[in-house]
Amino acid sequence: MQSIARKHILQIKPYIPGKPIEEVEREMGLKSVIKLASNENPYGPSPKVLKAMVQAAKTVNRYPDGSCYYLRQELARRLKVSENQLIFGNGSDELIVLATRAFSDYGDEVIIARPSFLIYEIASKVSGATIKFVPLKDFRYDIEGIKNAITPKTKIIFIGNPDNPSGSYITKAQAEDLLKSIRQKILVFFDEAYFEFVDKDDYPDTIKLMKTYKNVITTRTFSKMYGLAGLRVGYGIGDAQVISLLERVREPFNINSVAQAAALACLKDKAYYEKLLRTIKAQRKYVYANLKKMGLSFVESVTNFILIDVRQNSFNVSQALLKKGVIVRDMGFWGLDTYIRVTVGKPQENQRFIRALKEIMK
Ligand SMILES: *Cc1c(COP(=O)(O)O)cnc(C)c1O
Repeated sequence: MQSIARKHILQIKPYIPGKPIEEVEREMGLKSVIKLASNENPYGPSPKVLKAMVQAAKTVNRYPDGSCYYLRQELARRLKVSENQLIFGNGSDELIVLATRAFSDYGDEVIIARPSFLIYEIASKVSGATIKFVPLKDFRYDIEGIKNAITPKTKIIFIGNPDNPSGSYITKAQAEDLLKSIRQKILVFFDEAYFEFVDKDDYPDTIKLMKTYKNVITTRTFSKMYGLAGLRVGYGIGDAQVISLLERVREPFNINSVAQAAALACLKDKAYYEKLLRTIKAQRKYVYANLKKMGLSFVESVTNFILIDVRQNSFNVSQALLKKGVIVRDMGFWGLDTYIRVTVGKPQENQRFIRALKEIMK
């Protein structure tokens, strides 16, 4: 069947996700495996969110509300945007796919940093576009490099902000500089999956920027800080015209009804999520302090994950950690042969990771 597949599909390597806990336990014959590989929130949903999910589960014989009415209203109010400036996705991943589906075509170019989030690359390749990679500089976006990579064929620039796997961010000044210097007929896609973790004064307010720059779209998700990764719900904010273009290529019932109810309940349970956020930030400090004690360098992160230089083959280190029941992400696939990416977990999980890493590094 290869000969009848769309040609450019053959060049795509399927995305390899972090291994699920059960799979590792099965394969390694281990119990109590911990996963620090996919930047998930280690804590489950709050009691209020669970209650909303149970309630919504009672009506799953019906199709979900294709417009996400209540969630849309609530977010529009909180973000101070109009309802037609919002679009929802089956995870924010889907919004990346919708953007490439609506904007990039054969012969077009898309600009992506390297290393960065793999979905940008996969979705762009599916659309048939050519990718221009711009290497990070000191694990930060190279804005001049991005400007220089622009050609008349450029359709989309993907900016992970904060980025994955580096954990770094582009500043307000950098975002404004980029938007000012490029033509307004390039979609600038700010992926803010880790938005809720960022506490930097110079982080850009992209919702404000899109008032001036209609070519900006911003996406956020309930998968990371809000801990609903398994339910798949993300959203995009943009100028109404940009959003209406994405709406044309969206499937009608892409957000299931349990996910809609859970996301809405999350927004209303501020106290629970603020507490989790404080815990995770304190734990990030704990991991930093221990890495420093071990003499290991890492990239300062504004997210819930840390990119660590283990100064030896990262595949071997992550395999050794796996044998000790700790799943982390080997960054070899991203071209970072001595790096692992580790999600900040619960206190006991982080202690176990540090202990295991110490044993391996000895
Ligand atoms: C996790 C992640 C996402 C989105 O995840 P969804 O679960 O699809 O919302 C998007 N971008 C980056 C950079 C991520 O790390």
